[in-house]
Amino acid sequence: MNQHPRLSGKPGRALRCTVLGIVMAAVTGCGHDQDLLHKSQLLAMGTLVDISIWTRDDGLAQRAIATVTQELNDAEHRWHAWRPSPLTEINSKIAAGQPATVDALTRDLIKKSQILASASDNLFNPTIGKLIEVWGFHTDDRPDVPPPAQDQIDALLANAPAMADLHIDGDHVTSTNRHVQLDFGGIAKGYAVDLAVDKIRKLGVRNAIVDAGGDLRAIGSHGDRPWRIGIRNPRGPGVIASLEARGDESIFTSGDYERYFIYKGKRYHHIIDPRTGYPSTGATSATVIHSDAATADAAATALIVAGPKKWRAVAKSMGLKYVMLVDSKGTVYMTPAMAKRIKFQIEPPPKVIVAQP
Ligand code: AMP
Ligand code: MG
Repeated sequence: MNQHPRLSGKPGRALRCTVLGIVMAAVTGCGHDQDLLHKSQLLAMGTLVDISIWTRDDGLAQRAIATVTQELNDAEHRWHAWRPSPLTEINSKIAAGQPATVDALTRDLIKKSQILASASDNLFNPTIGKLIEVWGFHTDDRPDVPPPAQDQIDALLANAPAMADLHIDGDHVTSTNRHVQLDFGGIAKGYAVDLAVDKIRKLGVRNAIVDAGGDLRAIGSHGDRPWRIGIRNPRGPGVIASLEARGDESIFTSGDYERYFIYKGKRYHHIIDPRTGYPSTGATSATVIHSDAATADAAATALIVAGPKKWRAVAKSMGLKYVMLVDSKGTVYMTPAMAKRIKFQIEPPPKVIVAQP
């Protein structure tokens, strides 16, 4: 346990860019060789996605941008949790106690989610679609209506849906529990970013960031310097901290500020603790760096649920090296490896507790 040293000295040019740049986005666009940076924005998976490709080959950049756009749009359609989609079809079949036909990508996503759910002690649990729905988050704009009744929550908890209830046989999935309702909101963005980055790599892209609303995978570098990433301040404007991405890394943050409603002065956010059926408490954001975006995404969701009391155990069981958690008082908890890379961007810097998982 130790305090993180204060940032000292005047911020340099790149640092000013970080602070002034897009919140929670990869910081790009400052510095020379600006014409080698190709940028594009789109709306996909419920968020604004920034694509940055650093290359001398304009044609390659355009092909890469089109590829990422296509991959993310496909993923949004395939795994949409409430608009009619292949996923809502699968959920209907499960509810009817029938086998559902699943495409190869969805089978892979299910298998990956089973491993991650199990490693997180089911704090990452993408089968709680019903709970997320009764909380009103299966809409684009949740109206400020009351939270669900305790009876309703208790009944859904008693059904105990889990990824382990699902069984894949050939191109079919069956569930031993009809109450499983898949909602991949906690992992699909990461999984789709992995698909997109793998594809543009095959096209020949070496330096890029695919940033889906602050959740991103960065490969290579921004010319002669690393990509610099800002991590959004969960309780204030701008970024709480920044770090440099190394080679090929995904940096994902789950925050209670992303989707929420207020009822009678109390805030209810979109990440549900599968143990209580209520929005998780204790942490306001959780950030994970990992080599693959799907794991970073699922782990960040699991860790915000785990909160300050359980984050170390979950980080350990999920095999995570880089974790940062901010609690409701603003205290920052980090693994030692994360602490070495984080540069705080708020004054005064927060209280920091560094602990080995
Ligand atoms: P993220 O921003 O990655 O943490 O994902 C949040 C989204 O994941 C929510 O909007 C829900 O769709 C879904 N979700 C909520 N709670 C959980 C949970 N405990 N496990 C898995 N997915 C969840
Ligand atoms: Mg997530």
